[in-house]
Amino acid sequence: MKDEKIYTKLTSSVLKYSTDFFHEKGFVQLMPVILSPVTDPLGPDPGSSVIKTGEVEYLGQKLSLTQSMILHKQIAIRAGIEKLFIISPNIRLEHPKRKKTGRHLFEFSQVDFEIAHAKKEDVYKLMEEFLVGLVKKIKKEHNEELGLLDRKLPDIKTPFSKFTTTKLKERYGKEWEMSASIEEKQPFWTISHKREFYDKEDPEKPGEYLNYDLVYPEGFGEALSGAEREHEFSSIIRKIKGDELDKTRYAPYLELAKKGLIPSAGGGCGVERMVRYLSGAKHIGDVQLFRRVPGESVLV
Ligand code: AMP
Ligand code: MG
Repeated sequence: MKDEKIYTKLTSSVLKYSTDFFHEKGFVQLMPVILSPVTDPLGPDPGSSVIKTGEVEYLGQKLSLTQSMILHKQIAIRAGIEKLFIISPNIRLEHPKRKKTGRHLFEFSQVDFEIAHAKKEDVYKLMEEFLVGLVKKIKKEHNEELGLLDRKLPDIKTPFSKFTTTKLKERYGKEWEMSASIEEKQPFWTISHKREFYDKEDPEKPGEYLNYDLVYPEGFGEALSGAEREHEFSSIIRKIKGDELDKTRYAPYLELAKKGLIPSAGGGCGVERMVRYLSGAKHIGDVQLFRRVPGESVLV
């Protein structure tokens, strides 16, 4: 079997597993949003390097191509959809230097979810169960394909370890995330990252954040980012100002935030990164049938 066929079959299984998993847990599946006046600013986040946001001018409105659905997830929670998920396509026009990371695409999808009134511990539990079940299913149903790819996928055990970003920076320096990913034998959580305004700062400990990343072992890097969310208008405005973002770009979101958002927590797990980890592919572009690698021209 050709590798591209194997990766496509694995992707299909990952999508089916993700959809079934969240439906079985009572989540409501939303349609993805592609164009909107508001999208994730993706910054300031040391993990982001987009050179611009894709935009379309349509009937006098400036609409952005979705970089992530975080703001829409908060709006959907506010509308009373208490547990939701989306297979959400994201366009992130990443810097061409990211061609070589093996982990970056400029078009990819997330399994993106959000839960009203949840705390970070709820997300740890949910996503550990998710990943354990996914690995089990892939090993059971795709044993032959994994063999053809020469991939020895290790079993994973819960609970995953948790490390603060401060501790990892002390131990590994600037490249802490990748160094830890290479070092660790099991997936692990990194907690408290200073990044976008919508991730909640710990009210008890300013300068610490109620957010988390899930990281794959064996050097496959980040799997998921998520957080408990800022829902109070005053905190959102203060942080948007602090990040020097143009608040007029978030006007429709801010109007709703002023009327009141509901506390929530959630995250987004990259589909192609899951397939890369499961299959052991050298480059994430290899798992896409229609390759979207920053710095490579698009063939079809
Ligand atoms: P973020 O909230 O920005 O961390 O994005 C959520 C998840 O989407 C990440 O943890 C990755 O699994 C995936 N992801 C983010 N950016 C990219 C990218 N440029 N290429 C492929 N996957 C990505
Ligand atoms: Mg991230």
